[in-house]
Amino acid sequence: MKYLINFLDKKSKIFYIRKIMLFTVFMYLIFGLLYKTSLLSEDPIGLNHRIFSASVFLVFYLGSFITNIIKDNIYKTFYFLIYFANLHLLYLAYNNNMSINFAFSIIIVIFISNLLLKPQEQLKTFNIIMIVLVSIVTIYITDSLTNKFVFLIIFYVISITSYIISKLSYLSMKNIKEKKTYYENLFKKSPIGLIRCNSNGSILDINQHMIELTNKQNRDHFLGKNIFNILGIEKINLDEINDHKSFEYEVDFSEEQKFWLEMTVEKIREEEQNTYILAFKDISNNKKLEENLTYLSFHDQMTGLYNYRYFKNEVERFNKSRKLPISILIIDIDRLKTINDSKGHIKGNEIIRNTANILQRALRDEDILARVGGDEFGIILPKTKEKTAEKISKRIYDEIDSYNKQANKNTVISISIGWATKEKKSTSLYEILEIADQNMYESKDSSR
Ligand code: GH3
Ligand code: MG
Repeated sequence: MKYLINFLDKKSKIFYIRKIMLFTVFMYLIFGLLYKTSLLSEDPIGLNHRIFSASVFLVFYLGSFITNIIKDNIYKTFYFLIYFANLHLLYLAYNNNMSINFAFSIIIVIFISNLLLKPQEQLKTFNIIMIVLVSIVTIYITDSLTNKFVFLIIFYVISITSYIISKLSYLSMKNIKEKKTYYENLFKKSPIGLIRCNSNGSILDINQHMIELTNKQNRDHFLGKNIFNILGIEKINLDEINDHKSFEYEVDFSEEQKFWLEMTVEKIREEEQNTYILAFKDISNNKKLEENLTYLSFHDQMTGLYNYRYFKNEVERFNKSRKLPISILIIDIDRLKTINDSKGHIKGNEIIRNTANILQRALRDEDILARVGGDEFGIILPKTKEKTAEKISKRIYDEIDSYNKQANKNTVISISIGWATKEKKSTSLYEILEIADQNMYESKDSSR
């Protein structure tokens, strides 16, 4: 009961203290009735005093429903009643010169008080006051000296030890409570999203950061639900996962944006069943950065086409492919050096970009176009025989011609194309690339 009162919130404290007040009223009256019906010996308190004490408790009990003064100061009221009960008993003990047996009821009240009240300065003062008063009153009671002495020793021992026990257990409860609050806060206020679930993925707890990550309103939306369903992510068997293992998911919680979550799983081995802590981090920025880096490492910034590194990887990949024939086109801009010298580097750049655009327009989706040198482009044409490669080359020349007809004479483009086709598995695509390159130079020479 002590723990209940000391560690409860205000509302429950009021509830319990009211119960104790009512219980005391009944105790006064029931014992009165038992004495009256001669089931016990003569009533040491007397009916009038019983009714008086019970009334005081009853008035404060009812008062706690009527006025907020009592309700708001319920703990102080309770203290007052305990002082009252003890002083009343002492008064009776002194005034009626009752036997020492009766005075033992004071010991019980002190004992209960120490267990019920918070072991702080107030309670210490209460014990000291009671020790002084009880000692004085005991002196004036006419009983044998031995009886008085025994009573006082018992009284001192009970009041001091009950206070010490109360203090020690209060401190250990406080310690446990503080630790509990600390770990609860660690979970609740953690700056990463946390979910505690069982091995089926049923959510047992979720912290605020995770609720905010998922754009939802409150915990109730999650508790008891399945984590994989609610996040819309692929189910995994948590029991089979090693600690610290992490997963990445692209999720879609809000209508405007998708984002990336990283989930790390930690198994908590508990007595009855294992639970799991799933930690979630928004890694969208890292992913974007990663995507940009990948894009940059495989693309040419000036034209937006694939770069030489990508082209090389693709040649390697297609070299192993069984899907034949494969054709390769090599395209080089004619006399770019001269254009740079006469019209400037910027004009030269414009010619490179325009050529890239024209090539892109002339190709199919599955064709791979890359800028493989300063003014040189390479094209891989999967499943393309030599005749088609020739046709595509012709189409590119035609596109360049029609572009030149509209362009002003400063940006006229002239290119040379060479092509070659891998028909047989035994031929290396690198050889084909070499032949296409030679063919390009031959074509350049013949057009001069
Ligand atoms: P050719 O007809 O034999 O192809 O003559 P060319 O002047 O085009 O010479 P070549 O293809 O051998 O060399 C490419 C030239 O393209 C070298 C350089 O001056 C120019 N070039 C390379 N990269 C760039 C670039 O990014 N911008 C510009 N403006 N020019 C470049
Ligand atoms: Mg050139």
